[in-house]
Amino acid sequence: MELINTIYEMKQWSKERQNNSIAFVPTMGFLHIGHVTLLEHAKKIADKSVLSIYVNPSQFRPGEDLDKYPRDMEGDLKKAKNAGTDCVFIPDSNEIYPENYQTWIEVMELQKGLCGDSRPGHFKGVATIVCKLFNIVRPDFAIFGEKDFQQLAIIRQMVADLNMDIKIIGHPTIREENGLAFSSRNAYLTEKQRFDIAPNIYKTLLQALNIIKNGEKQAVNVENFIIKGLSVFKEFKIDYIFIGNKFTLKKTDIIDNNTIIAIAVWLGNTRLIDNAQLCSE
Ligand code: AMP
Repeated sequence: MELINTIYEMKQWSKERQNNSIAFVPTMGFLHIGHVTLLEHAKKIADKSVLSIYVNPSQFRPGEDLDKYPRDMEGDLKKAKNAGTDCVFIPDSNEIYPENYQTWIEVMELQKGLCGDSRPGHFKGVATIVCKLFNIVRPDFAIFGEKDFQQLAIIRQMVADLNMDIKIIGHPTIREENGLAFSSRNAYLTEKQRFDIAPNIYKTLLQALNIIKNGEKQAVNVENFIIKGLSVFKEFKIDYIFIGNKFTLKKTDIIDNNTIIAIAVWLGNTRLIDNAQLCSE
């Protein structure tokens, strides 16, 4: 497994492998089983797999967790190696955002609503770094988790709008046995929060899917069902519940097969997101 720190070397690495297909998994590190599964998938679909580890400052707002975002480079490299990763790109912020940096990507409609409302500017940072990484790594495939559902939709749109020759692959969310989606931010949770409380987010989403399958079609009723279900746990503070179209990210009143339920909740100082779809793609 090769470790690369500079943009020049990363570009060279990919150029030298022009005759190979490359699958790319961008991450912010502190790898967990979800990330590892994406890396294993990358290995399966392409000749070469590339992981990037970069905690991108431009997607954090002042006061968010940029400084305390969990990091474990040694552990990450072990996990990447075990997953058969060919190359790990660990860029430096001075090179990614040099002085006088001034170009930004915004996916104007899809960045609105959901996490875009709670974290203004977040998706501008995400789209920009992903675009830059795509230009540096030049992958044929890029794999993103469905847990970050709005992010996936934004990247798909960006790739289509900017005519990038990259196939974007959405991977289903990998979960703990109790249903909690793996997330680097789970490291912030206490044992009680992680094992007793947080799993109720997905449990409640599944119950919501169940009432839909049993005939409930009114989004407002499903939303109220979720609010009621979560209100049992006083520790939760709901940031948003979104019930809407999974392609347009517009809210719907009447639920159909293209509906997704996406949710963000605060558990103490930790913000957790998750989602559940009526029909998986
Ligand atoms: P992050 O390091 O949190 O920026 O995530 C890097 C990539 O891993 C993103 O495409 C995420 O959607 C994906 N990812 C994070 N958690 C999971 C999970 N539990 N299951 C599947 N993919 C995930």
